[in-house]
Amino acid sequence: MTAHVDVIVIGAGFSGLYALHRLRELGFRTQVLEKADNVGGTWLFNRYPGARCDIESIEYSYSFSEEIQQEWVWTETMPAQPEIEAYLNFVADRLDLRRDIAFGAEVVSMVFDEDAAVWGVETAAGPSFVARYVVAASGILSVPLEPTIDGLDSFAGTSLFTSRWPEEDVDLTDRRVGVIGTGSTGVQLIPVVAREAGHLTVFQRSPAYTLPWHVRPFEPGELEDLKSNYGEIRELQRAHPVGAARLSAFSVLLDMLAMPPLKTASREEQLRAIDENGVMGALSWGDIFFDIEANQMAAELYGEAVARIVEDPATAAALKPTHPFGCKRPIIDQGYYETFNRDDVALVDLREDPIVAVTPAGIRTGQRHHELDVIIYATGFDAMTGALTRIDVRGRDAMSLADFWGTRGPYSYLGIAVSGFPNLFIIQAPGSPSAATNFVAAMEQHVEWIGDCLAHLRAHDHRTIEALPDAQREWMEHATALVARTVLVHPTCNSWYNGGNVPGKKRMYMGYTAGIPEYRRRCDEIAEAGYTGFKLG
Ligand code: NAP
Repeated sequence: MTAHVDVIVIGAGFSGLYALHRLRELGFRTQVLEKADNVGGTWLFNRYPGARCDIESIEYSYSFSEEIQQEWVWTETMPAQPEIEAYLNFVADRLDLRRDIAFGAEVVSMVFDEDAAVWGVETAAGPSFVARYVVAASGILSVPLEPTIDGLDSFAGTSLFTSRWPEEDVDLTDRRVGVIGTGSTGVQLIPVVAREAGHLTVFQRSPAYTLPWHVRPFEPGELEDLKSNYGEIRELQRAHPVGAARLSAFSVLLDMLAMPPLKTASREEQLRAIDENGVMGALSWGDIFFDIEANQMAAELYGEAVARIVEDPATAAALKPTHPFGCKRPIIDQGYYETFNRDDVALVDLREDPIVAVTPAGIRTGQRHHELDVIIYATGFDAMTGALTRIDVRGRDAMSLADFWGTRGPYSYLGIAVSGFPNLFIIQAPGSPSAATNFVAAMEQHVEWIGDCLAHLRAHDHRTIEALPDAQREWMEHATALVARTVLVHPTCNSWYNGGNVPGKKRMYMGYTAGIPEYRRRCDEIAEAGYTGFKLG
């Protein structure tokens, strides 16, 4: 049986839930298709020990509803995964969203019917849908990057993946655990696992830059005070380039830009910086995002700061990063480097001693065999494009979105629409601010802009909207020019930001770095001018 609706929304994470609410309010018959059995998106699957957001809870939350922001009670400054999952469930119930969400409904194909100007959407379980519009709220970090290591399936112990961590408790007591991956996920997970496991071996390919951060419960009355001032907090957040005006992993980067240059700093000034601020002091210089030599000097200083924390000189040296700071997403941690001072934690530097294979009893590197009971993979995501390229999306002339992005590169217009794919809106596509900002703030702007756009199309009896190729090209040139002078495009930078973490993926920086307010201004200008750069049919 095929159901007919106005809009299909793919995904019931942060963006899908708000899209459903907004579009329903505007009077569109909207159906959400969610492959999981509950709401939450990436915050449902990534339930590994230590999972936590690195933006403050009062900013990493919906701003569109005064009732929700007043009613929900956050317990900590930066929320842990269980609290975010509970929050999204609360929102789904509070707004009565579940009645329009089909769970266990994984979208496998979407074909645009040019004559009828509708999308035909098929799910793995069978039910199909026809809709004038599709809003892909399928997430920027929702598709795990499966490691391709020889013998991976031969391991006789327990294999765990942070991106699909089991719901039931995992007992690591007295077990020999190996962790592969030292990005944001690994850096959060490693101190927690170290406290629980009998022995932990960290298999590190690229050492991380990570800044220590104090996360704490709210003091009695503190959250109430913040809530009484929510209007102002949201206003400041809205005006802030990264969509988070309070201290966050992103705002720290912006603060660094305002610091004096490292290249002209004396040795005394450099040492004072790490005396006073540790690893943060090593990186707090204004020139390191634009000058690769300054960046390399900062890496050296960073290594010195790490060596002051990590007692074993060989381990400290192995933890010193070699890629430019800033070219990967910033990471914050709770006790990462201190973890390596434990007797029951060992570091394997895969740059010196690469993994050869997973064996039934552990991991074999070039130099030895590491016996393990549990292997945890924290190996990242096929970000930004991965969710949609795993669906067979066919636009005009049966053009495949996966082929287009795979050969041309991850192009879009405004990070929201792709030429050749009419009536498809993508929440935070490549070319949108998402990667370098508070995702929730960036996403809210997208949902609102899309809602207004659909209302406009309905009011003016349009059946289709499609990005024009020239507008798309100009947008990507503009987005690319913004980062051209920065270390973000340095050739040694392999990050999910540019697809460099996925073997064979077309490499291109996928964010929009002029900040959310400037991005919003441009989007609004385009809408007010009658959706310039789009063809309305
Ligand atoms: P990631 O940053 O891409 O890190 C993946 C790690 O796995 C890297 O250290 C990578 O090494 C390593 N790796 C991948 N394949 C490997 C292999 N075959 N052998 C050895 N090592 C391998 O992924 P992530 O840590 O999951 O984080 C992704 C993003 O999710 C973050 O940047 C952030 O946006 C988000 N996130 C946020 C939070 C938070 O809010 N605090 C927490 C977790 C995640 P290379 O670097 O050498 O490729």
